[in-house]
Amino acid sequence: MQSHNRSLSSAMISHDLQDWLTRTSAEPAPLPNCCCEQSTCASSELFHDTIKRLEGESRLAAEIGQSLLLKYEKFVQEDEQRRREYEQKVRKTANMLLNCLI
Ligand SMILES: [Zn+2]
Repeated sequence: MQSHNRSLSSAMISHDLQDWLTRTSAEPAPLPNCCCEQSTCASSELFHDTIKRLEGESRLAAEIGQSLLLKYEKFVQEDEQRRREYEQKVRKTANMLLNCLI
């Protein structure tokens, strides 16, 4: 499957998310039942395959969620930084104006 340290660009994230949403909504496959407990049972095999696939999908979903969260936090930080810079500029300008008036 996907490697762990692929870069998560926003295009990639939205593609993955779209892909995941399409697959999960198109495929509400019920878990196959096994009642014989044999290791060769097709139902049992399918069951484990399905579990593995679901694990992969939830890992991907978690990865996407995590990167979206990180992105959001970065935006918030940048916004805060911009606000501080703006405030500083306003204060500097106000001081300059005051100095001119005095
Ligand atoms: Zn079985």
